[in-house]
Order: sequence, then structure tokens, then C-alpha cells
Amino acid sequence: MGERLKVGIRIRPHLAEQSESHKPQLHILNKDVYFKDPATQNVDTRSFDYAFDSQDETQDKYASQAVVYDAVGPGILDNFMQGFHCSLFTYGQTGSGKTHTITGPQDNPGIVPRLVTDLFERLEKRKQKESDFKWEVQVSMLEVYSNERLKDLLDKNSQPIRNMRIQQDKELGYTYVKEMTRKSVKDAHQLLGYVNAGNADRLVASTKLNVNSSRTHTIVQLTLSQESTLVGRKQILFSVMNLVDLAGSERVRRTGSLSNTPEANLRLQEAVAVNQSLSNLVLCIQRLADAGSHKTSSPGGGGGGG
Ligand code: ADP
Ligand code: MG
Repeated sequence: MGERLKVGIRIRPHLAEQSESHKPQLHILNKDVYFKDPATQNVDTRSFDYAFDSQDETQDKYASQAVVYDAVGPGILDNFMQGFHCSLFTYGQTGSGKTHTITGPQDNPGIVPRLVTDLFERLEKRKQKESDFKWEVQVSMLEVYSNERLKDLLDKNSQPIRNMRIQQDKELGYTYVKEMTRKSVKDAHQLLGYVNAGNADRLVASTKLNVNSSRTHTIVQLTLSQESTLVGRKQILFSVMNLVDLAGSERVRRTGSLSNTPEANLRLQEAVAVNQSLSNLVLCIQRLADAGSHKTSSPGGGGGGG
């Protein structure tokens, strides 16, 4: 799909609590993934822009958090710093490793902490070379519930509400929520402090509302303004990056005696709503990819990037 859209797959280790009989047989060769269905023994092959094998830490081919970041992160940052808007999503079933990959535990950080650290290092480096280079980074963080309520994760006291205004800045070509808290940040440590607090708030809010936190989408939105002077002319760039940990796609089944309880019905509705929103996202991405194969966009004009 070219430079504008890249799709990778990561296979996490088989978890101790998963039954051995359901252990899928997955093999990665270059960018191809071979999947053998344990029930039918049929083999399915898919190709990706990236394929990361994180099944077995003892093997040379094991894709650590660093390996994943080094493949995906620097390219997105290049685009972001050149003034393109970009987005990174993790998509998959609940338990497939989305949060591990995008956020990761403190002692084994995922893409977001690495990318943010890299971003500020690059900005500082440029500032050292060009004394009149100015930049501003802002962060906001948002949780989207399956009933379309939104919660501002940088405001501890905010409740998930329905009537937040989702707006499009047509001139700058990006989408944002008007009421969202936006914090200006001076370094990676400060930014990650906000993101960590937001993630903690996310868990508390989900638990209070009795919603499984894997049923919500979380978006960290970074905006970057850069001002520099190039051969006597002032250049101003503005770009937005969305880092999205999507709700888990669900296998929807209505079976067993529990399925008629109000609780089970609510869970079913939630799962259907999550799947619907993920299908819509896939359609949007497909449209963008189709448009991207006919057109190229210029910096600041939206679209581009990973
Ligand atoms: P999701 O966000 O998709 O629901 P998680 O990221 O929470 O899934 O991962 C589910 C479990 O699998 C967690 O216990 C996580 O630590 C573990 N896990 C996921 N990916 C990896 C990986 N690459 N290496 C080791 N453990 C992983
Ligand atoms: Mg998760």
C-alpha cells in the first residue's frame, strides 16, 4: 500500500493460562505469516509490511520491544517532524498484545514511551544546531467508550460524556475534541507522566462503570508546532500524531444459559458496538489507502505517515 499506510503483525508468546490444544501454529518467514489451524490443519498465508515474531524469547529471531520500535517508530517520527499528520493503531482481539506493544510495562516500554523519548531527543538536537528553531509539543488523551461517550483522561475529575464536540480543523487537516485538556510539555519525562496518569485513570474509570477497559479505545494525541528560518525565510510546520490502543475485536456468540441475563445482553451489545466501530475504522483506512494510491499529499496537508 505504499508509504502512506503500513501494516505489521506481531505474534506474542503463548500464555501460560492458554490451553496447549489451542496453541496456534504460526511461523514467520520474512514478511509472510503462515498460520496452521490446529483443528483443520489448513494453512493460511498472509503478507505484511512488517512481521514480528515474539513467540520465543530464547530464539535469535525474537522481536523485542526495541526491535518493534526500531522498525516502526523512526519512520513515523520522520513524517511527523516533516509536518505530516500520522497515526499508529494497535488492532486485535483482547489479550493479543495491543497494550503491551503500544504502551508496555514500565520495565519493558513499548512504542509510545520510546517514540516520545526519541521525539524530544530529535527536537533538542535540532535546537542545538539551529539557535532560532522553536518548537511546542502538546498532549491530550482520550478514552472512547462503546456507547460513544468520551472521557478526558488528562482530567481526573471528568466523567465519560456523550456531548463532547468532535471538530475538524479543515485548514490544518486534523480532528480533535474541543473540550479535551491539552497540556504543553517540555520533555519526554513530563509527557509520559501525563500518559501514565491517564492510563491509571482509565483503569479506575472503567472499573467504576463496570466496563472492561479492553472495551474502550484510547487515543494519545500529540501536536507539534515547529518554527525555523530557512535561507532567510520563516517556515512554520504543524503536525498531529494519534497513538491509538483500540478496543479488542470480539468473537460475538450468543450461547449458554447466561446469554439471557441483562448483564450478558449488555456485554453482547458492547461487543457488537466495538466490532461495528472497528469495521468502520477498517473502511476509513481502506478509503484512505485507495485515495493514497492515486494522490500524494504535501506537508501540513494531512494524511501521510505510518
Ligand atoms: P491487549 O491489550 O491486546 O488486550 P495485552 O497487551 O494486555 O493485550 O496482552 C495480554 C497479555 O499478554 C499480557 O499479560 C501481556 O503482558 C502479555 N503479552 C502480550 N504481548 C507480549 C509480548 N510480546 N511479550 C510478552 N508478553 C506479552
Ligand atoms: Mg489492552
